[in-house]
Order: sequence, then structure tokens, then C-alpha cells
Amino acid sequence: MNAADFYRTEPTGSQAYGAPRDDGKRTHTGDDFSHSTKPDTVPVPAILAGRVTAIQRERAGLTNGYGNQVTVTHPDGSRFTYGHLARVSVALGQDLDTGTVVGTEGETGWTSGPCVHVEYLDPQGRRQDPYPHIRAAIARPMTITKPEDDDMNICLYLYTPTNHLLLVDHMNKRIRDLGDSATDPVRDHYSQQPYTRVGDLGNAEKLPDWAEITKGYTYV
Ligand SMILES: [Zn+2]
Repeated sequence: MNAADFYRTEPTGSQAYGAPRDDGKRTHTGDDFSHSTKPDTVPVPAILAGRVTAIQRERAGLTNGYGNQVTVTHPDGSRFTYGHLARVSVALGQDLDTGTVVGTEGETGWTSGPCVHVEYLDPQGRRQDPYPHIRAAIARPMTITKPEDDDMNICLYLYTPTNHLLLVDHMNKRIRDLGDSATDPVRDHYSQQPYTRVGDLGNAEKLPDWAEITKGYTYV
């Protein structure tokens, strides 16, 4: 399963960030994703490219609750951690791409069933709600018209195959159809690079699946 599919559904209830734990004495510090009731059967893809900067392995009688855990640090200094893994599939110092398998869903540490517990630390090391960062990360493959290093804005203009200009808001999963008479070409706010028309991309590999781009989005 690729990262976009693996993390597509936002965790709810007790699996969500901030859910109460220990009768409200603390809150859940990450998002739990579970795709099977059997441990060590589902590979866990990395959300973002980066380097493995820490690996914790659970040993008998010694756990801080996370069990087997992999930490990946990204170029901006932010980190995703992947806990409760049954198996760790990467090595310390290894460079990963989005989708590289870091291990398998498991129940090491304190968990009520097989899953992966994902936490996000911003570049200053502050823990944040992971899901907005996950959503932005897994949306990135859709952002074919943006420069690679531009993660400043969460909105994106796209031309549909029928030449309609769409404003795609990844954070709120909304799409506004600006019609077929909008200014052309639209330029990136920061780099001033013109956006590419979807229909003009010559490389078939880069042509997006339109149904995939609009899946789960609301037109407003
Ligand atoms: Zn958890």
C-alpha cells in the first residue's frame, strides 16, 4: 500500500490525536493507523522522505510505551515517529523516500491491538497534531504544478483536462472551480513559475489520475 492510501483515512475516536487516555489523566500523543488485526502482516510506508535518526527496539521489561519505534528526520528538521512496530525494516542513518517501508504494524509497547502510532515533531521539536502534516505530505504527489521545495502554501491551481482552472485546497479538502476563462498562465506566488497545464504534460508517468486527485474533496 502506498503512503497516500495507507494514511488516507484520518483516525477518529480513541485512535485520534488528543483522545483521552488513563481516564483523562493524559491524552493520546499521536495518530493510530490499523489495517489488520494480525501483527506483522501490514507494511508501514514512510510518510515523507528523510533519514532514519533513531531506532528504539523493545526489550523484555523495558519499554516507554512506544515499543519498536523508528524516527525519520526530514530536510526541514521535522520528524515523524512510527511506534508499536512488530518489525523494523530500516537501519539507522538510512535515507528513505516517501513510501519506503519502515516496518510492520504491530503491538509492541502499550497498545490494545496491532497498529502504527505516528507522532509529529516540528523543526523546533514541538509535538503537534500529526494529521494535518500527514495530509499535506500525502497530497504532495498531486501537486504536480508546484516546485518541489514549495511547501509554504496549501493551495494549488490545477488545470483540468477540460481546461477548467481549479483552486485545490489540500488542507480543507476543497476544490473551487474557477471556470475556463481564468488568467493564463497562473504563476506560483513564491517562485513566480508558471503552473503547468495538466493536459500539457508530455511525460505519461507524471500525468495524474484525475479521480485520485479529487477523491475525498468537496467542490465549493
Ligand atoms: Zn497511539
